[in-house]
Amino acid sequence: MKKSNLFQNKNEFQGSNFKSHKVELEFLQNLGFATNPFNKEITGLDNIWNYAQEINQKRENLNYPIDGLVVKIDDNILSSKLGVVGKTPRGWCAIKFAAKESTTKICGITWQVGRTGKITPVAELEATELAGTTVQRASLHNYNEVKEKKLHYGDTLVIRKAGDIIPEVVDVLIKLRVHKHNKNANTDSSGKFKIPNKCPSCATQLIKTQTKIDLLCPNIDTCPAQIIGRLSYFSSRNLANIVGLSEK
Ligand SMILES: [Zn+2]
Repeated sequence: MKKSNLFQNKNEFQGSNFKSHKVELEFLQNLGFATNPFNKEITGLDNIWNYAQEINQKRENLNYPIDGLVVKIDDNILSSKLGVVGKTPRGWCAIKFAAKESTTKICGITWQVGRTGKITPVAELEATELAGTTVQRASLHNYNEVKEKKLHYGDTLVIRKAGDIIPEVVDVLIKLRVHKHNKNANTDSSGKFKIPNKCPSCATQLIKTQTKIDLLCPNIDTCPAQIIGRLSYFSSRNLANIVGLSEK
C-alpha cells in the first residue's frame, strides 16, 4: 500500500473496521511498526493460563520489565458488543504475575525529610538480588508502619518489588529475631529501632499528622531538607526545567 493512499479514508483505520485483533497487529506490522513477538492467538482458558506461566518464566530474560499480560478477545465485533465498564473493555482481561519477593536483613532506618516536611522512613538492608537488580533500600512508607512493625536491628524482612517501583517491606519474620543492641543503628537496649522525635535535618521537634500516620517537621521556613527538596522539585523537568541543578 502506498503511503499517499493510506490516509484517504480515515474510517479505514478505526479498530472496528478490522475483523480481529490479530489482523490489526498484522496490519501494523506490515506498516513497519514494532509489535510484540510474544503476541499469540490462543484458544481455551487452560492454554491461555499455560501461556501466561510460560511468559512468567521468560520475563527475567526480557530487557524490559513486565508485571503481567493482557488477554483480549480476538473477534473485534464480539469484543465491542461486550461493551466497556468505566475505561475497561469487557473483552479484555489482565493477568498479573505475583510480585517478586526476597528476604534480607535490616541494618538501619534512614528518616528522610521531604519537601513538604513529611518524614519517610527507609529501611537500609543487607544487599540482596531482587528481580534482576541489587536492592539495598526499601520503603517503610510512614512512621506508623515502623511503629506497628516494631522493627529490630538484624530483623529478617520480606521485601517485594512490583513493576519498577522502589521495593517495599511486606513482612517481618519475627521468629528469626535476634535481639541485638546496636548503637550505630540507633536502637534501644533490646535492639528496637528508635523513632526520632527531632527532625534529622534541622532538629526541630517533630509532630504527628492528624491521622497519626506520618511524622512532620513543622519548620517549613528554615528546615534545610525541606528547602532543598522544594528547590529540587521546582527546578525539575516538569516545572522550571533547570538542567544541572541537583540536590548534591
Ligand atoms: Zn526539619
